[in-house]
Order: sequence, then structure tokens, then C-alpha cells
Amino acid sequence: MPVVVLVGRPNVGKSTLFNRLTNTRDALVYDLPGLTRDRQYGQGRFEGKSYIVVDTGGLSPAENDALAMLAEEQAQIALEEADRVFFLVDAESGCLPDDEAIARRLRKLGKPVTVLVNKAEGKPVLRTAAEFHVLGLGDPRPVSAEHGDGITALLREQLAGFPESHESYQDDGIIRVAVVGRPNAGKSTLVNRLLGEDRVLTADVAGTTRDAIRVRFERDGHRYELIDTAGIRRRSRVSEVVEKFSIVKALQAIEDAHVVILVTDAHDEISTQDAKLMGLVAQRGRALVLAINKWDHLADDKRAWIKSEIDFRLPFLDFVPPHFISALHGSGLRELMEDVVLAYESTTMDIPTPELTRALEAAVDRHSPPAVLGRRIKLRYAHQTGTNPIRILVHGNQTEKLPLSYHRYLINEFRAAFQLKGVPILLEFKTGE
Ligand code: GDP
Ligand code: GDP
Repeated sequence: MPVVVLVGRPNVGKSTLFNRLTNTRDALVYDLPGLTRDRQYGQGRFEGKSYIVVDTGGLSPAENDALAMLAEEQAQIALEEADRVFFLVDAESGCLPDDEAIARRLRKLGKPVTVLVNKAEGKPVLRTAAEFHVLGLGDPRPVSAEHGDGITALLREQLAGFPESHESYQDDGIIRVAVVGRPNAGKSTLVNRLLGEDRVLTADVAGTTRDAIRVRFERDGHRYELIDTAGIRRRSRVSEVVEKFSIVKALQAIEDAHVVILVTDAHDEISTQDAKLMGLVAQRGRALVLAINKWDHLADDKRAWIKSEIDFRLPFLDFVPPHFISALHGSGLRELMEDVVLAYESTTMDIPTPELTRALEAAVDRHSPPAVLGRRIKLRYAHQTGTNPIRILVHGNQTEKLPLSYHRYLINEFRAAFQLKGVPILLEFKTGE
């Protein structure tokens, strides 16, 4: 998937453009309590092509707090990994010194940059663009993020060289697993353990640094493909370079996976980055298995504290089974991989409409939806509209009035009825009257 990175000073319209470029995914903003859509990393689709969009925020945060620094570091990494950079400037304010400062930085980057003169709706094209030629980054293009002017042509042109992407793999029975997490969490140790114990079928290490590396292996009768793992790559390296943590790279791997194993280090707190990754995995609807690594040599009180910390910090991930493992010694890996298989089976499950409808009826019987202005909300039947992620469409009337708590209730009922483990469930509703 190509990576499009948005840069520009504050207030030029980056988040407006971000929303426009990612709005095909809005339907996926769902019912995980506590999870809001990430406003920095998103995905879009245009004429059959998927792409990742990163909004860098502002390029130079004024405050020096940790979050701003994290944003700044990830902005820099995203720029290095960008396939296309959209540099937004503002037609209303004209070309400012800060624009020139950003332009200098971008010229050094050596990436394909397009200057977008935003807020250009209703303005004369040539005159609006003219003053931004001084930025030295090619012909500025007038657009309107808010109204959409110029965006279709822009995307068509910028995505021209990229292949069409398929929404999902045909089901070949291979469990695709992405192993993600911060540097030093133990990803390579885990991967090498898994591979060392098992027969490696094929190793494709030909890709460039950005392309995901895939290795196939078999274990307990299941076939797996590991995606973009630091471990395999590091093994073949002459010198060990500390891998930069890249959210964009993780996103690419997540996209291709059925199941994501997020590895964290038990000695560290669950970090902002870990939480962000979990949110993005859930947002994309992928199955998630959490591996709290380096569980060896931990005192009992520390273990208890970590477990409560997970419950406290990650309540929205109540469907995710945490595993306490030692990649180094191999403990907990059997159970971990059993849950990976369960998560795979869950996320690829085809549930027949009669069974789903029966589960819906049972749920409604146990606990009926509330009445709105004296009229009861009716839920009639449900059918599955997708796998990986699991999507369920519930038909009824007045469904738009169903409270979120009832969405959650239904999700839990479906989860229990079909033993869907480790996967988010996307509920959609349709009112037919
Ligand atoms: P950011 O700080 O770069 O993310 O900028 P925002 O997306 O938050 O936009 C800043 C302001 O510009 C908001 O009030 C937007 O409504 C406005 N804006 C964004 N795009 C357009 C546009 O195409 N035309 C006009 N007229 N206003 C816009
Ligand atoms: P990566 O950057 O996520 O791939 O992390 P590595 O696999 O390179 O591991 C980072 C360090 O943690 C190495 O020194 C490993 O030996 C160590 N490590 C990995 N897993 C474990 C574990 O389960 N227990 C302990 N004690 N150390 C581990």
C-alpha cells in the first residue's frame, strides 16, 4: 500500500484533507468503548487502490512534551517512508516564512512532493497557485479539502503507478500473522523461536526495506506465514542496526494479516505506542493476540501489578486474550499459538444467516431493546457481510435509535454464541420500513 503523508503548518487544512482521504473507512468507526478513530493514521481507498494516510500534525511542535516528541519522531519516520508527500499551504493566508521553512526540509528529503494550495474554492486557479512557485517544489495545485475540488484528479494522478489492492486474500488456509511491537520487546526472539522449532517452508527475503518480509512455516498441523518481522531480517544482516519503531510499517503488516501478535516487554509499562498500535489493529478489524514477553524472572508482586495494569489501561480490548510468555525460554508459546489459531478461525468464520438470526432472537429474548417514545425497537434478522474483520448487519426498525450499550450487548452475545475469540465484531444496522 502506498503511503501518503500530509505536511504543512497548523490550520492549512491537513485534518480536513485527512478526513476526506480516509472517509471510506468512517463506517468502521465502531463500538469499541474507549476507542476513537485515530486522527493521525488512516486508510483510504480510491478506484480500487488502498493507501495509508498519515497526518503529521504540525511539523515543529512548540511544546516539548513526550507526546509531541513522539509525534515529531513518527512524523519524521513517516516522511522517510512516504511514497507521496502532500504539502498543504493556504490560499487565504498566502505564502508565509513557515511554509518556506517546511519547503526547505522537504526539498532535502528527495521524495515526490506535491504542493496543494488549499482553500482555493472559487478562486482563480493560476493566480492562486502563482505565489507558491517560490517554494521550489513543482507546480502548486489549487484544491479545496473542504469542498473536494481537485481531489479526485489529484488522487488519480498520484496513485497511477500503484497496483489495485484486494480487500482480502482468497482463503488458502494459511494463517497470516504479523508480529509487531516496539524495538527490544522480543519480536525477533519470538520469531526465531517459532521458526527454530519448526520447519521453514520458504523464506522470501528479497524485498526492499519497506516491503514486508514473509516466511512460511508449519506447526502442529497449521500453516503460517509470518509478516514483516524484525527477527528474520536481522538474522541476515551483517551488522545489527537498531530498528526504528515505525507505525507505518506496522500498519502495512497489520493490513496483510489475519492475526496480529503484539509483543510488549513486561518490564516496561504499556506505552502510548503500544496502545496506539492496539487501537489501529482494532480499527482495522484485525484479530489481536497480546504477548507480554520476558515473563521469566519476574517477582510475583510485579506480575500481579502488570495484570491489573492491563485490565486498567486496556478495557476496550476485553476480547483480546493476553498471554504471558518468555520468548527466550519458549514458555507460553503453545497457548499463544493456540489462541492465534482460534483468532484466525474466528476472523475467517462464515456464520449462516439462520444461526445468526437465532442468536439475535435469543439475545433479544433475554434482554429486549428499549422502547423509544412508546414504540419498541424491533430487530428482525442478522446476516454476515464480511470476514476479517467480521461484519454483521442487523435488520430491524428504528435501529438508529439503539443505544451504544445495546450494540455492546449484542456484540458480546454474538461473541459468546459463536465463540469468536480475539476479534472485534463490526455491527451495522439497517432499518427497513
Ligand atoms: P490543520 O490544522 O492543518 O489540520 O487544519 P484543519 O483541517 O483543522 O483546518 C483549519 C481550518 O481551515 C478549519 O476551520 C477548516 O474548516 C478550514 N478549511 C480546511 N479546508 C478548507 C477548504 O478547503 N476551504 C476553506 N474555505 N476552509 C478550509
Ligand atoms: P525486538 O527488537 O523486538 O526484535 O527484540 P529482540 O528479540 O531483539 O529482544 C531484545 C532483547 O530482549 C534481547 O536481548 C533478547 O535476548 C531479550 N529477550 C527477548 N525475549 C526475552 C524473554 O522472554 N526473556 C528475557 N529475559 N529476555 C528476552
